[in-house]
Amino acid sequence: MRVLVFLDGTPVDPDAAHIRVDDLGLLRGDGVFETILVVDGKPRELRPHLDRLARSAAMLDLPEPDLETWERTARTVIENWRGGREIALKLVYTRGVDGDPDARPTGFALGMEIDPKVLRARTEGVSVITLERGFPPDLAERAPWLLLGAKSVSYGVNMAALREAARRGASDVIFTAADGSVFEGPTSTVVLAKDRTLYTPPSSIGILPGTTQAALFRGAEKAGWSVKVEPLHVSDLFEGEGVFLASSVRLLTRVHTLDGRALPDSGTVHGELAAAYEAEYA
Ligand code: PLP
Repeated sequence: MRVLVFLDGTPVDPDAAHIRVDDLGLLRGDGVFETILVVDGKPRELRPHLDRLARSAAMLDLPEPDLETWERTARTVIENWRGGREIALKLVYTRGVDGDPDARPTGFALGMEIDPKVLRARTEGVSVITLERGFPPDLAERAPWLLLGAKSVSYGVNMAALREAARRGASDVIFTAADGSVFEGPTSTVVLAKDRTLYTPPSSIGILPGTTQAALFRGAEKAGWSVKVEPLHVSDLFEGEGVFLASSVRLLTRVHTLDGRALPDSGTVHGELAAAYEAEYA
């Protein structure tokens, strides 16, 4: 089941061709996107996702997206969905056709079923390796043209990192700096639980501000946890009660093995945190 709606609000056949081959999103990876989880017809963190779409668009100097139109388009996908309880809802916004002075950006919303691999990781957890990302944590603020922390459609490196993990017998990645600073996963935010405190690195080091991490921190605080947004070192990850990868569709996924070392069983902590997160949508 898939539902595709362009920004004019019309649902169209998701199996037909709609995007021109000279769209800059395709030719140069010049565009931005969001992936939103919808459960029982309700989009989670819709406003934070729309705001982040606008933030990414601004980082790429794309025309400011009209968030009301985007919201309407997203809701049209949901209204036309006839699949399972959950939808992975993608919003894609590119610079449009190359060289056309009247070109307008391309924008669409696409609802899809959740990948079975993601569903499995939600229950079984994942084995993760650290991979160096090749730049220091202070680069993002010095070099905005690198678009660090924008959710751009140029995810080639992120996908290559996941293939590297597979080659090494793992299923996900935590990007690090040469000094051992923790960044993020290729499609997730890193969260550490230690002594009833949740930790995640600040987005100022050039990572995406996660909407799931923010919702989790909100819920966890209500459940009596402390939360801290501060730099993390890889060695910290071995010293807590749980390491998690958070993102909209995977939710909070347990990391059971890191660089070949088994981490302590975080099942109980995971249960508690998952409940605190779900309580945000009760
Ligand atoms: N970091 C990166 C690089 C991502 O691509 C994503 C989501 O796909 C996240 C973090 C998590 O963001 P969110 O929780 O808003 O889905």
